[in-house]
Amino acid sequence: MAALWSSVASPARPTVKKESLPALIMESIVLFGPPGAGKGTQAQRIMESTGLPQVSTGDMLRAAVAAGTPTGIEAKKYMDAGQLVPDEVIIDLIKDRIQEDDASNGVMFDGFPRTIPQAEALSTITAVSHVVAIEVPDERIVERICGRYTCADCSAVFHDTFNPTTKEGVCDSCGSSNFKRRADDNADTVMSRLNAYHEQTSPLAAWYDSKGIFFRIDGDRDIDSITQDILTTLE
Ligand code: ADP
Ligand code: ADP
Ligand code: ZN
Repeated sequence: MAALWSSVASPARPTVKKESLPALIMESIVLFGPPGAGKGTQAQRIMESTGLPQVSTGDMLRAAVAAGTPTGIEAKKYMDAGQLVPDEVIIDLIKDRIQEDDASNGVMFDGFPRTIPQAEALSTITAVSHVVAIEVPDERIVERICGRYTCADCSAVFHDTFNPTTKEGVCDSCGSSNFKRRADDNADTVMSRLNAYHEQTSPLAAWYDSKGIFFRIDGDRDIDSITQDILTTLE
C-alpha cells in the first residue's frame, strides 16, 4: 500500500521495528459488497495486518438498538424491514466514531458507505485509499445469511455449513459457548436487503471506480483465498 511507512523509510526517521508499528496506514479502507458477502469475516482477518480498526455501521446500529438510544429506536424500524437507515443518522454516527483515538490513522469501514450521499460525506471526513468489493452472486446470499451466527462474547462470525466452529458449541476465537443470530437474518428480510443493495448501494461501484480506487475480489470462494487476495490488493 502506498502509504505504508515501512515502504518509505527515510534516514531521518528513527529506526522502528516493523512489527512494533501500531498502525501503518494513514488512509481508510472500505470493504464493499452485498449483505452476507463476507465483509465482517474478512475485516476480522485483515485487521491485524492493516493495523486499522473495523468500523461496522451495522454493529454500531445494533449496539444502539440494544442500548435503547434515540438513534437505536429510530434505526430499528428500518433494520427490521431490511431497509437502509437514513443517511443523516449514519453520517452522524461516523462523524462521532472517527473522532476516537484508535481512528487517527484511518479505519476499515465495513458496510459503510452504502449510498452516494454517504460516500460524499465520507470524502469530507477521511481519505479513502482502497474500496475493496467482495463480489458474491445473489443466489449465494440467502444461504450465507440464513446460516450466519456469531459469538456473543467476541463477535467472531460463523456459518452452520460453510464455516462452523471447529468444536461444536465452542467459539474458536475465545472459547465461549454463547452464540447469537441476528433478527434480520431471515429469508424475507434478505430479499429487501438485496434490493436495497442493488438500488441504492451498487451505484457506488461506478462512483469509486471513476476515482481509480475500486478493486473487485471474487467472493464466491473459500475464505482463505479471499483474505489472500485482499491483502495482495492492499499491498
Ligand atoms: P457481511 O459482513 O458481508 O454481511 P459475513 O462476514 O457476516 O458477511 O458473512 C456472512 C456469512 O457467510 C457468515 O455466516 C460467514 O461465516 C459466511 N461466509 C463468509 N465468507 C464466506 C465464504 N467465502 N464462503 C462461504 N461462507 C462465507
Ligand atoms: P449486512 O450483513 O446486511 O451487510 P449490516 O450489519 O451491515 O448487514 O447492516 C444491517 C442493517 O443496518 C442494514 O440492513 C441497514 O438497515 C442498517 N445499516 C447498516 N449500515 C448502514 C449504512 N451504511 N447505511 C444505511 N443503513 C445501514
Ligand atoms: Zn468468541
